[in-house]
Amino acid sequence: MPTPAEALALILDRLAPLPARRLPLEAVLGMAAAEPLTSTATVPPFTNSAMDGYAVRAADLAGASQEHPVRLRVLGDLAAGGVPLGAVGPGQALRIMTGAPMPEGADSVVPVEDTSRGEDWVEITAPLRTGIHIRLAGEDLREGQRLVPAGQALRPGDLGVLAAAGIPTVAVHPRARVAVLTTGDELVDVSEEPGPGRIRDANIHAVCAQVSACGATPVPFPRVPDDRATLMGVLRRALEADVVLTTGGISVGDYDFMKAMLEELGAERIFWKVAQKPGGPLGFWMLGGRAIFGIPGNPVAAMLMVEEYVRPALRKLMGFTKLHRPVAEARLEDGWTGRTDQRTTFLRVVARREADGFSARTTGPQGSAILSSMLSANALAVIPKGVACVEPGGTVRLHLTEEPEDH
Ligand code: AMP
Ligand code: MG
Repeated sequence: MPTPAEALALILDRLAPLPARRLPLEAVLGMAAAEPLTSTATVPPFTNSAMDGYAVRAADLAGASQEHPVRLRVLGDLAAGGVPLGAVGPGQALRIMTGAPMPEGADSVVPVEDTSRGEDWVEITAPLRTGIHIRLAGEDLREGQRLVPAGQALRPGDLGVLAAAGIPTVAVHPRARVAVLTTGDELVDVSEEPGPGRIRDANIHAVCAQVSACGATPVPFPRVPDDRATLMGVLRRALEADVVLTTGGISVGDYDFMKAMLEELGAERIFWKVAQKPGGPLGFWMLGGRAIFGIPGNPVAAMLMVEEYVRPALRKLMGFTKLHRPVAEARLEDGWTGRTDQRTTFLRVVARREADGFSARTTGPQGSAILSSMLSANALAVIPKGVACVEPGGTVRLHLTEEPEDH
């Protein structure tokens, strides 16, 4: 039985980023660029005014004061989007708006607030630093400048820069399409009143949300009853997606058919069961280049498996460089007592950043069916195999599940 680290390595070794696709800027938010992006343009493309005011020659204003204002002749008006018709000579000014190109001859802009205007003249009562209130061509971006590395989620600011730099499309790794199947005769929809022996399907919502949260696209399937033929049919359809996630039916119960069905379909078993609590029976198969995760049905175990194994796998498929959550050491304030065995234990905890590092508290009862333990959790504490007890205040390692990857 692989340890969690071994299981993760077995999964990641089998997966490579999905082939890149060229998409328009409006479709790539949150996706990873497949190649480094480089500016194809100079930004700004021309030297322009940073203020609404007057384009002037600073030398003309060297002697300006309250007592001796300098009066310049105004040649005309220039709005953003216009082009200057002529040069500004000594003793002259051009009324100019923010973003309009600087005319020949002018080297500075006087903000309109610092001027008083007559019919065809403007008066200025203070000198001006040469070059002030103008934006030089290329001061923002140069042609050939590196903008965004490959493998990093594109953010709104990145898209703005790419647009300014003349890059209308980006080669990105597509979002992985993830078929999500929940199995179990006992399951009913959230909107239904469960009859005797039935419960509501929590996993379809939790797991699809986890898939969305890491940037992939969930494709929820109708709940699958514990029936071989139905399961087989649904699995065949699910295998049209890039990845298949199934919850339930993966253990050793009399109605746990998932493992047998997948192998009947020809899936190659990479492992079944991981040495961890909660949720040992995680299975991982490959079939026709697709990854299939058989996840236990207990909702806490299911979410934990998606967090620890599926999420890094999806991020690898989607071309991200960073696959893992940040880790930190923390004091476990309330301590923990379990049983000594050869499995790693994951505790749901509330972690707090304090002046001298992180502290954490468990979220209460940690049973794998206690879904309410997820409500306030913002981290997982990882208790190594062989450790049966953490004293109150003892040190634990955390996976910070609410923070973006940092390594
Ligand atoms: P299984 O892995 O199918 O043996 O299911 C283990 C436990 O998880 C059982 O108590 C199931 O009723 C429960 N369970 C399975 N699937 C779901 C689900 N989609 N939502 C909520 N509980 C589930
Ligand atoms: Mg079941």
